[in-house]
Amino acid sequence: MDRRINKLDAKIIDKTKELVKDHRRVLTDLADLMSYSFDASFGTYIPDVVIQPKSTKEVADLVKLANQEKIPVYPRGQSTSLSGGPLPVKGGMVLDLSKMNEKLIIDEEDLVAIVSPGVLTSEIHKAAENKGLMYPPDPSSSHVSTIGGNLAENSGGPRGLKYGVTKDYVIGLEVVTPEGEIIRTGGRTVKNVTGYDLTKLIVGSEGTLGIITEATLRLIPKPPATETMMAIFQDLVDSGRAISKILSSGILPSKMELMDQASIIAVENYQPCGLPTDAEAIILIEMDGHPHAIRDEIEKAEKICKEVGAKEVRLAHSQKEREELWKARKLVSPAIVKIKPTKISEDATVPRSKIPDMFRKLKEIKEKYNIHLVVFGHAGDGNLHPNIIADKRDQEEMKRVEMAVAEIFKAAVELGGTLSGEHGIGTMKAPFMEMELGSIGLDMMKRIKEAWDPNHIMNPGKIFPEPGQKLVLTE
Ligand SMILES: Cc1cc2nc3c(=O)[nH]c(=O)nc-3n(C[C@H](O)[C@H](O)[C@H](O)COP(=O)(O)OP(=O)(O)OC[C@H]3O[C@@H](n4cnc5c(N)ncnc54)[C@H](O)[C@@H]3O)c2cc1C
Repeated sequence: MDRRINKLDAKIIDKTKELVKDHRRVLTDLADLMSYSFDASFGTYIPDVVIQPKSTKEVADLVKLANQEKIPVYPRGQSTSLSGGPLPVKGGMVLDLSKMNEKLIIDEEDLVAIVSPGVLTSEIHKAAENKGLMYPPDPSSSHVSTIGGNLAENSGGPRGLKYGVTKDYVIGLEVVTPEGEIIRTGGRTVKNVTGYDLTKLIVGSEGTLGIITEATLRLIPKPPATETMMAIFQDLVDSGRAISKILSSGILPSKMELMDQASIIAVENYQPCGLPTDAEAIILIEMDGHPHAIRDEIEKAEKICKEVGAKEVRLAHSQKEREELWKARKLVSPAIVKIKPTKISEDATVPRSKIPDMFRKLKEIKEKYNIHLVVFGHAGDGNLHPNIIADKRDQEEMKRVEMAVAEIFKAAVELGGTLSGEHGIGTMKAPFMEMELGSIGLDMMKRIKEAWDPNHIMNPGKIFPEPGQKLVLTE
């Protein structure tokens, strides 16, 4: 798209006001525009107008107008993206879908939830659990992120190890296409093999192929019981071996989370939880299912951890003790930003067997670039979160961070992994796409984009790198 609009014509703003009758939902004041200029990653881009649609028709009418006038459109949920997804990098229109949050229907008979895009994911969890059901995808941001954002990013969380990610629970969508048409994909049945799977194509497309205005999600029965265990290791590589051994023994925990020594120290300095700061790694394991079966499994997992060299294993005997064990993991993010204010949160993911190699590589990168690197995350599925803690006012440090991030991505891809296990590509990882997909692989994706969005109005500047685009973390 060659038309970069810094200031939308007054005529176009007037047209949006004709389409959205309540003018309070069309925002043009600088203070409002500023509050829509950032997400949870890097960079500040001020849109020309922000519109808060309340219905599919409003979305469709606005997109039709944008397509006619060739105005960039940026769908946005709650802007918790860690990869730059909703940033209006080319100006234009931000459509704030978080206000479209009225529908949340749980159908126990069909085992589905039907939801508007702006519903918070935690609200879906609550509504399903009230009926003895479960919506498994559980991004850590579920209390602040929308289901529309989760669908667009194909988000996952700790439960991904056993249950998979968002795409595994979406069976139908209503979508406004980049030309402003309304389509339905999939349906209400778990089995549906009619034609191309457009549902799965839209999920994870990061708002570049259309705007999700309704979703039908698959629910499952809520497991009746859970067991939790914390295993403490003197050696990080032993913890990796314990993870592999548990998984190959036929046990499938619902969560298997890791904290490295830097995370343990950060938590103990922030809010002491009684963690040993001399330990190199902690793994937290949760099983869910029938109470007798998971009791047996947790004992087996305990035995394996001890055989592999765990220095200590703590088992929770009540809900309170379970929460105590998880508290440490939940504190990692707030604890590490006390060290320095800027957190670059990566989600490079490797095949499970390569976790120890990735640990070694991360250690080398940390030393080579002299950076503060903390590793935690969903070790059970290879989705590590190397987090670099820095200060964005220190330009020299940020340059070292840029080089370190590039090397982390390279290491993950070389080990047979991927740039992103859950945060998406957005602006932050676009420069590395060809490294993972190859030029033809990337070109096939571009052709899909071209067919869906011939005027390139839908979330331009995302996923696909501009010629010569590099990762830049300085402003
Ligand atoms: C503290 C914290 C913890 C996090 N933990 C996790 C985690 O465990 N797992 C994980 O996967 N992510 C995690 N994230 C990242 C983020 O929360 C997810 O990517 C989330 O899905 C984004 O939802 P959102 O509503 O904020 O969407 P936004 O950030 O507003 O948008 C994200 C993308 O979705 C597009 N989009 C939004 N709504 C729509 C729609 N209706 N139709 C089409 N496109 C749309 C946007 O254009 C953008 O590309 C975390 C973020 C934070 C800040």
